[in-house]
Amino acid sequence: MNAWYDIIIVGGGVVGCFIARALSRYKLRVLLLERESDVCSGASKANTAIVHAGYDAKPGTLKASLNVAGNRVYDQICADLDVPFQRCGTYVVALDEEDLRTLDDLYQRGVQNGVTGMRVISGEEMRRIEPLVNPEVRGALYAATGGIVDPFLLTIAAAENAVVNGVHLLLETEVTDFIRQNGRLAGVRTSHGQFLSRFVINAAGLYADQLMAKAGLHGFSITPRKGEYCVFDREKSRVRAVLFPCPTPISKGILVTPTTHGNTMIGPNAVDIQDKSDLSVTPQGLEEVFSGAQRLVPTLERRDVIAVFAGLRASGSTGDFLIEAPVQAPGLINVAGIESPGLTAAPAIAEFVLDLLRECGLELREKPDYNPIRRSPPRFHELSHREQALLIARDARYGRIVCRCEMVTEGEIVAAIHAPVPARTYDALKRRTRLGAGRCQGGFDTPRVIHILSRELGLPLTAITKKGPGSEFVVRETKDRNDTKTKV
Ligand SMILES: Cc1cc2nc3c(=O)[nH]c(=O)nc-3n(C[C@H](O)[C@H](O)[C@H](O)COP(=O)(O)OP(=O)(O)OC[C@H]3O[C@@H](n4cnc5c(N)ncnc54)[C@H](O)[C@@H]3O)c2cc1C
Repeated sequence: MNAWYDIIIVGGGVVGCFIARALSRYKLRVLLLERESDVCSGASKANTAIVHAGYDAKPGTLKASLNVAGNRVYDQICADLDVPFQRCGTYVVALDEEDLRTLDDLYQRGVQNGVTGMRVISGEEMRRIEPLVNPEVRGALYAATGGIVDPFLLTIAAAENAVVNGVHLLLETEVTDFIRQNGRLAGVRTSHGQFLSRFVINAAGLYADQLMAKAGLHGFSITPRKGEYCVFDREKSRVRAVLFPCPTPISKGILVTPTTHGNTMIGPNAVDIQDKSDLSVTPQGLEEVFSGAQRLVPTLERRDVIAVFAGLRASGSTGDFLIEAPVQAPGLINVAGIESPGLTAAPAIAEFVLDLLRECGLELREKPDYNPIRRSPPRFHELSHREQALLIARDARYGRIVCRCEMVTEGEIVAAIHAPVPARTYDALKRRTRLGAGRCQGGFDTPRVIHILSRELGLPLTAITKKGPGSEFVVRETKDRNDTKTKV
């Protein structure tokens, strides 16, 4: 017999996870399906992590309204979910006369979109706030409501909170087609069997257009638009302010920003590509990123970069978010073309989807025991010496440092492996604990982490992967198990 749900959500990115969390408030059977080994494996794991104020998007668009609405709830959401968020404000920097005119346009657009707390400041004030900014700065648009967030922890926390409130999550489960009954979508076929439901929510990121085509909807397409980044060693990271250039017609431009963990990050560029799986970084791309960032902060040094990566924007053919209950495919809700500011908008997108479901006749009855609060496991390096000592006394594994650069303990790793959304790969642990995210980029911790994953999951070393099937670290053991194997 097929399992039956009220709602199936396809895609465990920030959008799917926030929709799952919003639905978990109600008496509904909800299934969240993600084809990768972890949630937060698509665009939600590779972006600039800015909570945008909302002056960029064209007034009247969904991007504009859901950006501003999403931004407004970030303090509450990040407090409830225990996620690092800093409402530090953002600056669009003007370097010439034309840029100054653009600042005025952005300001007017922000006012139309309902953004509060904006102000055009002088070049002198900008230099006072961020001494590393290009000395030729002529002025800047300050947006007090802009901020920075940890996008991994945000997405994972939303998924965990949804799961604790009753949502079923299946990882490594790819939706391959829809089931139709009596002229409606009635469920999905997947790589692990089929599931029936009253509604299917398509939050499949870059692949949302392909799912739409399977439902017979062909008018909408998604182009992957690549953005490349460099991350700087925290010891060398001195930029304090989020600095944007004036935007281009297709992107917000290459910016310089601190992260919530104190690194400086620069990027992204914007290149339309064909291949939806191409996350490569190129020398030309990185050069473009570096020279773009140096226009804002000329003293940035290439030798201080510790990591590079790329993300793919799901750029939709309408230029706006597409969030709809199409009449041609009853039972389907599309949440597609969610490019920037999708991270900011995700909580508001979830509420918008709830309204659509209500309009489609779904009854939403609140659960008396819904709990919106989720506490993160202890982060050892954030604790005082006294708190660290107490934690070690309770559990000796918190006394064993596995990642030296980021000071991540075995206790944190074990907690993440057994969390409500379990970390079962190296990268899943990295997103939750920051192990391997420091200067040595996993050079020291990787062998120890593989052993811990193997022990905790009860799997052979050869089954432990970086990011799921096909990314195994170990082909076979080379030394006698009882003789020379590292003990962890
Ligand atoms: C370079 C870049 C910079 C950005 N910067 C910002 C920013 O600073 N601020 C901001 O607000 N936004 C930003 N964004 C946008 C933001 O990251 C995205 O809007 C957001 O992450 C989209 O989330 P999503 O859940 O729709 O997609 P995703 O995170 O891509 O999730 C979709 C999920 O669906 C899964 N999936 C796909 N097909 C199937 C299937 N058939 N079966 C099961 N699962 C499937 C995928 O594996 C994936 O995990 C940026 C994006 C990029 C790429």
